[in-house]
Amino acid sequence: MAETSLLSSLDWDKQAGLIPAIVQDHLSGKVLMQGYMNEAALKQTLETGKVTFFSRSKARLWTKGESSGNFLELVAISSDCDNDSLLIQALPKGPTCHRGTESCWDDGGHSFLHGLESLIAERKQACRQGEGGNSYTASLFERGTKRIAQKVGEEGLETALAAATNDKKELVDEASDLLFHLMVLLEDQELKLSDVVENLYQRHQKRR
Ligand code: AMP
Ligand code: ZN
Ligand code: ZN
Ligand code: ZN
Repeated sequence: MAETSLLSSLDWDKQAGLIPAIVQDHLSGKVLMQGYMNEAALKQTLETGKVTFFSRSKARLWTKGESSGNFLELVAISSDCDNDSLLIQALPKGPTCHRGTESCWDDGGHSFLHGLESLIAERKQACRQGEGGNSYTASLFERGTKRIAQKVGEEGLETALAAATNDKKELVDEASDLLFHLMVLLEDQELKLSDVVENLYQRHQKRR
């Protein structure tokens, strides 16, 4: 939607001139923070590419990061079904919460996949401390990189075979195995899912 039509399509009157704006990390999908925008804040955000709110406590326009340097670089803005709320995709230049955490929510605004990523990291820690118990994930870390890499290879092959035999249920199962073991391999190699997503995003940018 063109910028001017976004401004005029919003139901400013309903929200008494202040529209809630939810900021999501464009790469990880994490919910980072929520603030309010008046028309001037939205205009400034669109013009500068830096997410700017109307701060009710400061009673003025507030560009997130103006003193900390932790700006939110604008990627996209969309309004909801009844035009009374904004969803902002952004790239954070540092921790978004003033407490120094990535997100203003204590659980990090996690999606399921990122929650799973954290769980896998916990299992690696447990394994390192000899507290893996009977966790399958911990046992993978116990067996080491070669075994984990081998599992990824096997699950990749099983995924391909499921597709080749046109077995959709099997394909979902094998793709799940593949994704899980790939996440274990990334954790084993001290990489994050977001490293992969960021790489995909960079490639996507180059092709536009
Ligand atoms: P900053 O905009 O990052 O330079 O932070 C300036 C001030 O804005 C901080 O000292 C806090 O009072 C406030 N602040 C920063 N980040 C947040 C946030 N995510 N939610 C609410 N207030 C914030
Ligand atoms: Zn709504
Ligand atoms: Zn916060
Ligand atoms: Zn499998």
